[in-house]
Amino acid sequence: MEEILKGVEEIKGVGPRIKKILNRKGFFTVKDLLYYYPIKYEIRDRVFPVSEFIPGKSGWVKGIVSKVKLGFTRYRRMAIVYVYFHDGKKYGKAVFFNQRFLLRVFKKGVKVLFYGESKFPDEENLIFVMNPSKYEVLKNEQDEEKAIPVYGRIESLSSKKIHRIIAEIFKSFDIKENIPEFLIKKYIFPSRKLSLKAIHFPELKKIPSLRMPEVKRLIFEEFFFFQLSLTYFRKKLENKRKKRNLKFYDIVKYFESREGIKLTNSQKKAISEILKDFQDIFPMKRLLQGDVGSGKTFVALATSLFMIKNGYQVAFMAPTEILASQHFSRIKRMKSFKNVKSALLMGSLTPKQKKDLYEKIERGEVKFIVGTHALFQKKVKYKNLAYVIIDEQHRFGVAQRTAISLKGKNVDLLVMTATPIPRSLYLTLYSDLKVSVLKEFPFGEKRIKTYIVNEREREKMFDWIREQAKSGKQGFIVYPLIEESEVMDLKALETAYKDLKERYPELKIGILHGKMKAKEKEEIRKKFEEGEISILITTSIIEVGIDVQGANFIVIEHPERYGLSQLHQMRGRVGRKGEGFCFLIKNRGVGQDALKRMEIIKNINDGFRISEEDLKIRGSGNPLGKQQWGDVVFKIADPVRDIELLEIARDEAFNIIEKGKISDKIKEYFEYLEKLSEEVDFN
Ligand code: ADP
Ligand code: MG
Repeated sequence: MEEILKGVEEIKGVGPRIKKILNRKGFFTVKDLLYYYPIKYEIRDRVFPVSEFIPGKSGWVKGIVSKVKLGFTRYRRMAIVYVYFHDGKKYGKAVFFNQRFLLRVFKKGVKVLFYGESKFPDEENLIFVMNPSKYEVLKNEQDEEKAIPVYGRIESLSSKKIHRIIAEIFKSFDIKENIPEFLIKKYIFPSRKLSLKAIHFPELKKIPSLRMPEVKRLIFEEFFFFQLSLTYFRKKLENKRKKRNLKFYDIVKYFESREGIKLTNSQKKAISEILKDFQDIFPMKRLLQGDVGSGKTFVALATSLFMIKNGYQVAFMAPTEILASQHFSRIKRMKSFKNVKSALLMGSLTPKQKKDLYEKIERGEVKFIVGTHALFQKKVKYKNLAYVIIDEQHRFGVAQRTAISLKGKNVDLLVMTATPIPRSLYLTLYSDLKVSVLKEFPFGEKRIKTYIVNEREREKMFDWIREQAKSGKQGFIVYPLIEESEVMDLKALETAYKDLKERYPELKIGILHGKMKAKEKEEIRKKFEEGEISILITTSIIEVGIDVQGANFIVIEHPERYGLSQLHQMRGRVGRKGEGFCFLIKNRGVGQDALKRMEIIKNINDGFRISEEDLKIRGSGNPLGKQQWGDVVFKIADPVRDIELLEIARDEAFNIIEKGKISDKIKEYFEYLEKLSEEVDFN
């Protein structure tokens, strides 16, 4: 086994407390940390000695500590730490409030750096820095000027701390090459170790950019393993089958008459494409793409009925329990599914319920099984699963898609997404996927009005919401809870909930977030659906979560924290039947980029056009930052920007597997992939 696949606790300085934090955030192995890239670099290229620090300017100043003093403010007796330092010519003073622990950090004789604004001079006639925003105690001269990587915090672990942990890894772990030698030679890539080093410990003159071979190599590496996994799983599924002997039903007519609706032309076209695939000798792999509200579910359901009528089982998988149970309760109310034995399978069922259900599935007593990841757990055995549908496929990895497909023989697979990924990109990423697109909306063009609300207009908006809610309309207020386990954010959400209840004592307010128990979530969802809750305070879990006909307004707090497609998805939760309103709250101090995104959302309603804009914004030179495309999140690679590397990686991966040139490293990787598809990931 590769040394860096050892657990994080093997790193010097990582004790049980830090291990726990890291594990909680998905960092299990040393490797996970090695591939945790900085978000950006802070360049410290000008550090002034005290005597050259210009008054009134901000910057870095350095000196040697001569004295550290503790004082107190007159009111409320807040601690003040004074640090005196000099450069042999002049003295300076840094003043910190309420950070008493600094007494232990700054000792007489140590070299220090402070970042802040110089004030000049104080009553002691010294240059001084008030409340420096950054400081560092230096160990040696070289450290002074450098590029400092800035990492996203991992709970309480600061960027500095993370950098120190990564430095430990470089000291005591052997970072071996993982790309086949012949590829390294062919493309003249730097080694894995050097490349990672260039990212984590850049020289001042070599800030990582797309031009650097080290960066190119890491991008290639990411694509290469991604393509290997695609090819690996594809092989598993690649099977010719005997032509199915399917009886024909006019499923469109059947569905329309039972449901009392007319399918759109796009829906009908998609259905006929799928029915054709059912008859093919190659199992179907099809992507159904359509903006939020375009009616993908009906396509899935109508085609499911076709399979069920032919005697087969169908599985319908959704990424969250809320979404799964919502689909299920909708199906329960549908006339066309009245005689279909269906069931809901989720991790939160009791062991007994699960056991009963497993038996029924194995005996083929249930035909339509809706659920989450629970659908492909080891214990679940299907009698004759022939068709698998995956909703919001970007939430599932390729391993999981394969795992569910392998539950039947040569099953047909339909994956659905609202993420409008450009076709050319899809073909490169998943060359074997066919695409159906829903171009129209069942209720005609959506009319969602989007407003950018500044602080002065907030009250007006809240008054408007009151009137709407009083007249029976429903809506959401979304708070950012990027990491659902972050206690601080959760508190903010609960405070907002309390405030809102005080603001609208006459209205029914509900709260919904990922940390709630499945049962509680389900109750709230039902209440909202039945109109018993007017305003739902929630988080971005509704992005793929909730679908209520009556909802017609959504307020998005801190829209600057989301990408374009996420904002568009959330907005899609309202106005399903025509009119809807979306408010993006503009807080003071949001950056230009965020404002630009908000303007785009305000002006454009069409998901495909939004994704084009998204591409334009992304195209730039910074290699860092997560790039999400469909179901894959790349850490450093961007399939649009780096398309050439992607194509090379795809061809090389394909060749390796075709020719069976599988090295031990790659074998190890395949074993790892196998484990992925067993992984239980309930929410
Ligand atoms: P999405 O593509 O976002 O998953 P849904 O499948 O949830 O969209 O459809 C959005 C809403 O429109 C649902 O409430 C669904 O019942 C309704 N709907 C879908 N197709 C039609 C249609 N042809 N006629 C009337 N209503 C439809
Ligand atoms: Mg949907």
